[in-house]
Amino acid sequence: ILKINGLEKTYTSGNKQLTVLQNISFDVEKGQTFSIIGPSGSGKTTLLGICAGLDTPNAGSVELCGHDLSTLSEDERAQLRNREVGFIFQNFQLLPTLTALENVSVPLELQGAKHASKRGMELLEQVGLADRFHHYPSQLSGGEQQRVALARAFSNSPSILFADEPTGNLDEETGEKVIKLLFDLNKASNTTLVIVSHDLDLANRTQQILRLKGGKIITNQPTAAH
Ligand code: ATP
Repeated sequence: ILKINGLEKTYTSGNKQLTVLQNISFDVEKGQTFSIIGPSGSGKTTLLGICAGLDTPNAGSVELCGHDLSTLSEDERAQLRNREVGFIFQNFQLLPTLTALENVSVPLELQGAKHASKRGMELLEQVGLADRFHHYPSQLSGGEQQRVALARAFSNSPSILFADEPTGNLDEETGEKVIKLLFDLNKASNTTLVIVSHDLDLANRTQQILRLKGGKIITNQPTAAH
């Protein structure tokens, strides 16, 4: 479902060039649970953004859901993301002026979905927030905000879900709930999971671990959960 070949990413600031990803190639199969780990600054978030088509590489190719991303226009990439991809950001990225329900239902409405509000309520119920529909993000705890972000990421029934440190800001118990929701989704809907994490316990529960260091792949190995 995801094929990365010879990827390279360089940032330019002033007259300096910083290569943050180099010679990156790997595949993720449909339905697989896959994690990317590595020290801070090793390029994990950058790689995830490129895989999801939110950012473009300087060299190499990304094939996502059967499409070579370099052959798609910006609009076509956005359409592909709306159809096939869910993304959970490290800092949730909820819209502060919308309620929990609106954060889930408004993107659905914008994509032309019917009964967006009803679907939003169902999704929030699934993540245990049936009594928080009309709360604003500032009125929700970090874990609750993360669950709203999950509900939003699930809303288009993605075939692949990218999650950047999905438990990074959460206590152990809430983090475990969020992880369970992710793995339940993988089991119930065969949703492919690509997770960036510092948490080796979480990574070991996925089937494959890609280890990055200094923008290069150190290892790409199956786990015992394989
Ligand atoms: P962390 O675990 O700390 O989140 P990471 O492995 O996700 O780190 P990235 O966020 O991908 O690392 O960053 C990789 C490198 O690229 C870092 O050295 C960072 O400073 C640099 N970098 C990231 N974004 C930009 C940018 N927009 N412009 C310039 N440099 C950037």
